[in-house]
Amino acid sequence: MTAIENYEAVLADIHKAEAETGRKSDSVKLVAVSKTYDEAAIRPIIETGQKIFGENRVQEAYGKWPVLKAENDEIELHLIGPLQSNKAEEAVKLFDAIQSIDREKIARAISKEMIKQKKSLKLFVQVNTGLEEQKSGVKPSEVEVFIKFCQNELNLGICGLMCIPPVNENPGPHFALLKKLANECGLSEISCGMSGDYETAIMMGATYVRVGSAIFGQRN
Ligand SMILES: *Cc1c(COP(=O)(O)O)cnc(C)c1O
Repeated sequence: MTAIENYEAVLADIHKAEAETGRKSDSVKLVAVSKTYDEAAIRPIIETGQKIFGENRVQEAYGKWPVLKAENDEIELHLIGPLQSNKAEEAVKLFDAIQSIDREKIARAISKEMIKQKKSLKLFVQVNTGLEEQKSGVKPSEVEVFIKFCQNELNLGICGLMCIPPVNENPGPHFALLKKLANECGLSEISCGMSGDYETAIMMGATYVRVGSAIFGQRN
């Protein structure tokens, strides 16, 4: 299968899952995760009409997206990987959304850059639903306080929550926890579900799914 065929199949699965759960068509947005793939691999997917893409490294994204965005001004680029505060300026410049806000220092740096660059990004707080040592994200018990800090202290508009469940666990309970936390915080966007579990995520209420290898193929 080509990447375009894969992409069409993923879209069809998403529409099917939307219909099965009684959700409106196109209520779930697909973030096509293009990390490790180059411009030549990404361009055909843009040409089929896909607008939202995800990258997990600022540096890598700079190697391809300035050119691709210059070709199509409707692209919405999401940063889905960990961010260091010394990269905040570059991140705000290139990306349209950041899904990995996970600590005060980053929230402050992003806030400062958005004001300086007069640019408003769509922002998500990443939640470490599995309480994994090596994984970034706010602890579930601290999400509400962190969201209030972003909103009240920094006047930072947070639209939703994002999580990456532990690899060897059933993802369903993690998606459910993310949805519950989002509801408690009054946030409408829920970013969860990857190539192996995006249909489950839609069942559990995802509004954004982040799919890479099921579209572009296995990464090395
Ligand atoms: C790579 C990545 C994805 C996509 O993973 P696939 O399994 O290839 O679909 C989704 N979210 C994040 C944060 C990622 O880093």
